[in-house]
Amino acid sequence: MVWPMEPSSRTTPVEIRQSGPRILSIRWEDGEESAFPVRALRLACACAVCVDEWTGEYKLDPAAVPEDIRPLKVSSVGRYAIGIRWSDGHDTGIYPFERLRALADREGGKLG
Ligand SMILES: [Zn+2]
Repeated sequence: MVWPMEPSSRTTPVEIRQSGPRILSIRWEDGEESAFPVRALRLACACAVCVDEWTGEYKLDPAAVPEDIRPLKVSSVGRYAIGIRWSDGHDTGIYPFERLRALADREGGKLG
């Protein structure tokens, strides 16, 4: 399979690290750095468990996500996304870099 989008330095991470107890930082190839509060990322999960695939209805109850939620493991999914296993046991979410960069741009790099 050929990924249809042109790889872009805007959406190519050069470093992904946990920069604080609640912050996941991504440094992009274009020099920008985005800091994602981890709970906001958990709430932004768009997997089939959290968002109904057919209706697009948001099914995740934010109140059910612990305040101290944290990523246990961040793994790469192909070359275009990361998967996160969370401390609440949720591990089906995939975060495409395109979407992460769009989230960061929308929030001025400061989610939550
Ligand atoms: Zn999910």
